[in-house]
Amino acid sequence: MTETSFDFDLIVIGAGYGGFDAAKHAADHGLKVAIVESRDMGGTCVNRGCVPSKALLAASGRVRELADAEHLSAFGIHAAPVRFERKKIADHANNLVATIRSNLTKTLERAGVEILYGIGRLEGFQKVGLREKNGVDRIFTSRDVILATGSDPFVPPGIETDGRTVFTSDEAVNLEWLPRWIGIIGSGYIGLEFADVYSALGSEVTMIEALDRVMPTFDPDIAKMASRNLLDRRDIDARAGCIARKVSPGCPVKVELADMETKEFVEELELDAVLVATGRIPSSNALNLESVSVKTVKGFIPIDDSMRVLVNGDPIPHLWAVGDVTGKLMLAHTAAAQGAFAVENILGNKKVINYQNIPAATFTHPEISSVGLSELDAKSLSSEKGFKLGIVRSYFKANSKALAELESDGLMKLLFRKDNGLILGAHIYGLHAADLIQEVANALSRGQSVIELAEEVHTHPTLSEVVEVAYKQAVKQVENQ
Ligand SMILES: Cc1cc2nc3c(=O)[nH]c(=O)nc-3n(C[C@H](O)[C@H](O)[C@H](O)COP(=O)(O)OP(=O)(O)OC[C@H]3O[C@@H](n4cnc5c(N)ncnc54)[C@H](O)[C@@H]3O)c2cc1C
Repeated sequence: MTETSFDFDLIVIGAGYGGFDAAKHAADHGLKVAIVESRDMGGTCVNRGCVPSKALLAASGRVRELADAEHLSAFGIHAAPVRFERKKIADHANNLVATIRSNLTKTLERAGVEILYGIGRLEGFQKVGLREKNGVDRIFTSRDVILATGSDPFVPPGIETDGRTVFTSDEAVNLEWLPRWIGIIGSGYIGLEFADVYSALGSEVTMIEALDRVMPTFDPDIAKMASRNLLDRRDIDARAGCIARKVSPGCPVKVELADMETKEFVEELELDAVLVATGRIPSSNALNLESVSVKTVKGFIPIDDSMRVLVNGDPIPHLWAVGDVTGKLMLAHTAAAQGAFAVENILGNKKVINYQNIPAATFTHPEISSVGLSELDAKSLSSEKGFKLGIVRSYFKANSKALAELESDGLMKLLFRKDNGLILGAHIYGLHAADLIQEVANALSRGQSVIELAEEVHTHPTLSEVVEVAYKQAVKQVENQ
């Protein structure tokens, strides 16, 4: 029960992962909570992101495995030509979305959270306006407000989408048809995951990347190995240093390519479809942030590490923001962690978040993952702080489990301080990299050194021994033991 004259103790605007975790955590701790959602409970992750894309990757990954006659015959297995039903793969994704959305809604209801459907906005300090679908406008007061409105796909100028032949991940997750030839603009994790899906299901893929190498946001050594396996070996035509400056939907879709540097015309492609995977922009326009004098940075809401919203660098009392709309490591588990931490702070338990300890993964086959600093950032830190940077590489081809699976293409790169063995970061490409990174993320968040980690016994034969080997190599280089 609210102890004040406010309608609620907490109103959360946006019911994605960030908003969901915040609302549930607050209700579980006895606060009177409402959550406002304008579209679908569960937000991007559940409806248009992690959940459907991983369902498509699960199905298409199996198709790829069963269709890989060479790989199977190395085990002595000869399968009949693989057949699949696109509609049933799409249904699998849609059904999973519906189940998880419904579970999440019930969880909030059971926790006592009031769900308000409509577009939420601020109406000054500790006031939230709600525009319902029927046009009714209501104002609520709340002691604390959390903004968790997430993000939407970014479509660069010059690209026209029609949702059918030129589309973003919002539509791609529905897998309504399988283009014979698809262009994917952007080689970040979303572009790579869909390249994995489409190429497994038989589409020819051309990947267009504006920067001078594909997978520019990944560790360069990991990107080199991953792009060789995930793009080159699958005959995916990757065009780095090219921008799609004009994309016109239709049949065919026309894509005008220009050189990124010179801006000169390169070529016009005629494709069946184009997926625009060029990043995401914050959804903050409708929030009426002016009513509390908050100025966004390119649409992102500025926050401190306690998730308090900032105006000119100073926190505003009782106003918080979490998730993609804050622009910090835009991932579902970051949003959820920020949501729970914001509520802990509301409850008076001081909590600050450390983004360095949060792992990230790309669910291609095989996967890519990372945590902590990039090699470049680790190098700058080492010269700034005056310690020597240690870098070791552990290869999947030396791992018994990976060899047994006939999946031994893979690499882990571990970055650590040579003076005390503390871990700075890790980057992995290989089978189950998304699971493997968690061990390093946990060690990083506990501030552990490779001196103690190298003594931890790992199960044999498991892929986790790739991490063990990295720790053991690293400890040999630590100076003060
Ligand atoms: C294809 C794809 C795959 C992805 N895969 C992964 C993955 O594997 N792992 C991972 O960690 N992350 C993944 N992500 C990223 C993840 O989906 C986001 O980081 C996460 O959803 C962010 O959560 P959020 O709560 O900040 O925002 P969102 O999930 O975007 O939710 C915000 C909610 O707020 C609502 N809203 C917006 N404005 C208003 C308003 N004014 N009033 C009321 N409601 C409003 C929206 O309708 C939405 O429901 C993926 C994203 C995409 C697109």
